[in-house]
Amino acid sequence: MIVAMQEKATEEQIDAVIDVMMEAGVNVHRTTGATQTILAGVGPTAGIDLRKFELLEGVLSVHRITSPYKLAGRAFRPEGTIVEFANGAKIGGERVAVIAGPCAIESREQIFAIAACVKAAGGGFLRGGAFKPRSSPYAFQGLGIPGLELMHEAAREHGLLTVSEVMEISQIEPMLPYTDLFQVGARNMQNFNLLRELGQIRKPILLKRGISATIEELLLSSEYIMSGGNYEVILCERGIRTYETSTRNTMDIAAIPVVKKLSHLPIVGDPSHGTGRRDMVPAMAKAAVAAGADGVSIEIHPNADKSVSDAAQTLYLEQFEQLVRELRVIASAVGRTL
Ligand code: PEP
Ligand code: MN
Repeated sequence: MIVAMQEKATEEQIDAVIDVMMEAGVNVHRTTGATQTILAGVGPTAGIDLRKFELLEGVLSVHRITSPYKLAGRAFRPEGTIVEFANGAKIGGERVAVIAGPCAIESREQIFAIAACVKAAGGGFLRGGAFKPRSSPYAFQGLGIPGLELMHEAAREHGLLTVSEVMEISQIEPMLPYTDLFQVGARNMQNFNLLRELGQIRKPILLKRGISATIEELLLSSEYIMSGGNYEVILCERGIRTYETSTRNTMDIAAIPVVKKLSHLPIVGDPSHGTGRRDMVPAMAKAAVAAGADGVSIEIHPNADKSVSDAAQTLYLEQFEQLVRELRVIASAVGRTL
């Protein structure tokens, strides 16, 4: 950490700041300039709240120079993480992963039709919510474990893996037999008790960025999972809330190269929630792959307009098939396969 003192800071003030830094467990290296004194603190600063230093007399500004996350940081695994699944599928390698399925699992017919389409298009992962985080308590809340059983059966029939959202700790255990990739939704990105518990299981986690979370907060949330010993975390950019109202969320494509630089974890793009509009999903899916995403997560449904949730952003199966063909072209243009 770096503490820059004000030009007029007194020796007493500087000494007081040095004392507080040393009490916090960091070694202090002082540089006395002609007009300003700089204090560099070296040591374990990850858990220190820097605002405490900003409040000290004579301090101008305080900066962190090492990242507050250790396990999620790029330096932990400079070569990048590849999450490998039991059937050999990977997320994070050369191949761009395609995750697709309905917003919510609705019926046997629906999920079997979608599974066949995902497989035929070349996708590897079937997604579908069994526990749905709905803004209204009166909206459809999902079929629960019976829905997940249906999705698991459909996925296995087609050699696909399942992705489904876990909303609370009590759902982890019953979901385990049917879920290959546990999704943590945007609304739960900072449900730290849930994250810690997911750190104890040995199944990969798809961690979605919170609705108004910074990239640093996303990475700190992944650190909660990894600090429990589960290093199989995949991040997901799904759009954040901004002042823009043309799209449901503002899909932060730049978050993809930012995460690639800061972290070794794979990241996928979700243009369905990122835009909230069917007509804009393909463009943003292609943008995500072009920007270096390790995969995309797309909501699809044979009767998209009749989806029980997120109908407006759900692609028809033919639209999805067309999109995958286009994504292949983008992937090869950026040195990936799909
Ligand atoms: C979803 O993937 O269906 C979902 C609810 O996403 P998010 O948590 O990003 O809103
Ligand atoms: Mn949805």
